[in-house]
Amino acid sequence: MDCDGAIHGVYHYLDGELTVWKRRAIRRHLDECPPCAQGYDVELEIRRVISVRCREEAPEDLRRRIAEAIGIDPRRGA
Ligand SMILES: [Zn+2]
Repeated sequence: MDCDGAIHGVYHYLDGELTVWKRRAIRRHLDECPPCAQGYDVELEIRRVISVRCREEAPEDLRRRIAEAIGIDPRRGA
C-alpha cells in the first residue's frame, strides 16, 4: 500500500467501512510511514473535536476550518 492509498483508506477506516484485512494493511502502513501516521492522528483529532462541538455549531464548517488551518484538503478521500 502506498501513501495515497493509506490516507484515502484512513477516512473509511474511521468510518468503520473497511474489512479487517484492509484495516490491517492501513495499520501496517501507518506503523512504517510516520507522515501518514501523523495524518491519521490529525484526522482523529478533527473527529474528536467535531464530536464535541457538533452540538453547538455546524460540523462541516468547523471541519473545513480545521482542515485549512492544518493544511489538509478536507475533500480528499471523500
Ligand atoms: Zn505513507
